[in-house]
Amino acid sequence: MADAGREVRNVIVIGSGPAGLTAALYTARANLKPLVIEGLEAGGQLMLTTLVENFPGFRQGIMGPELMGEMRAQAEHFGAEIIRGSVTSVDLLSRPYTVTTTDAEYHCRTLIIATGASARLLGLPSERALIGHGVSTCATCDGYFFRGKPIAVVGGGDSAMEEAMFLTRFASHVTVVHRRDTLRASKIMQDKAFANPKISFEWNADVEEITDTAKGEVTAIVLRNNVTGVRKEIPVDGVFVAIGHTPNTALFRGHLDTDPNGYIITHAGTRTSAPGVFACGDVQDHIYRQAITAAGSGCMAAIDAEKYLEGLPQHLGEATLTA
Ligand code: NAP
Repeated sequence: MADAGREVRNVIVIGSGPAGLTAALYTARANLKPLVIEGLEAGGQLMLTTLVENFPGFRQGIMGPELMGEMRAQAEHFGAEIIRGSVTSVDLLSRPYTVTTTDAEYHCRTLIIATGASARLLGLPSERALIGHGVSTCATCDGYFFRGKPIAVVGGGDSAMEEAMFLTRFASHVTVVHRRDTLRASKIMQDKAFANPKISFEWNADVEEITDTAKGEVTAIVLRNNVTGVRKEIPVDGVFVAIGHTPNTALFRGHLDTDPNGYIITHAGTRTSAPGVFACGDVQDHIYRQAITAAGSGCMAAIDAEKYLEGLPQHLGEATLTA
């Protein structure tokens, strides 16, 4: 294992979505020379979207990958060092903290965690092929594109009900597809969804395929009833997969306090349960999950890290490396 030197970095940012790159921009402009380890899904969830119309400053919208390219270039312009690689472990027990990637080991006084959350997917090849082309995991982001069109929402939890109800503002009709015959969603959300005339339900339904990969757009969802075995094709223009999110926190289990769903708990801004470790973006937010809120919390994490460094006794960062 290469040791990336005995240098102790002021700030390491793990993750390169809107939260991580905004934290990098702010810490770079504060002259803290941040190191960003971009992670497996470089650029984060926006790399899977097409047009982003709700990021302020882009009246005509901007393509997700282009927006992330701009954020990255802006952070680099101010001196952020961004490296490829995936973090395999962190040591938050001794100071300075150690971050190990597949290639090297790095040391830092503060750590900003921006590893995000991944939307759970059904795992169908057609779903993967059509994501950003009619298949979406975010109604707030993409609902607007389906004005007057029929769509399907997959899932039976609160997220699925919330997305289905939100989408009735745009869609001509919303079909909720659920794998069982009862919903997991809370009673109040169920009642609202059942009362909505634009929503219908397909029960005991497994999604077999989303067509049409050859055309590169969504034309229908193919269902199989898991009780009767009967297949059914429902013409739709969009499919919203709302079967939950998984925060990318496996690395920090046992090191940091998390909620029962695995999200990092933050307090007083972006502080975590370890001193000098801050979390921003979807890894600590299961409510808003927007690029702009992630970027905002990345800015907060940078300012929190800067303040923390100002108050850090000089010797503490180097303690374990100077022997
Ligand atoms: P969730 O409660 O875990 O529900 C996930 C749903 O997706 C379940 O109905 C599940 O089916 C289904 N599902 C999971 N994997 C699937 C697969 N491979 N194929 C087909 N269906 C699959 O997740 P969530 O709805 O995102 O909610 C997460 C948490 O946030 C919950 O605590 C929820 O209450 C909360 N939340 C609250 C609100 C609100 O109060 N406004 C809004 C959103 C979320 P089964 O039911 O068969 O397991």
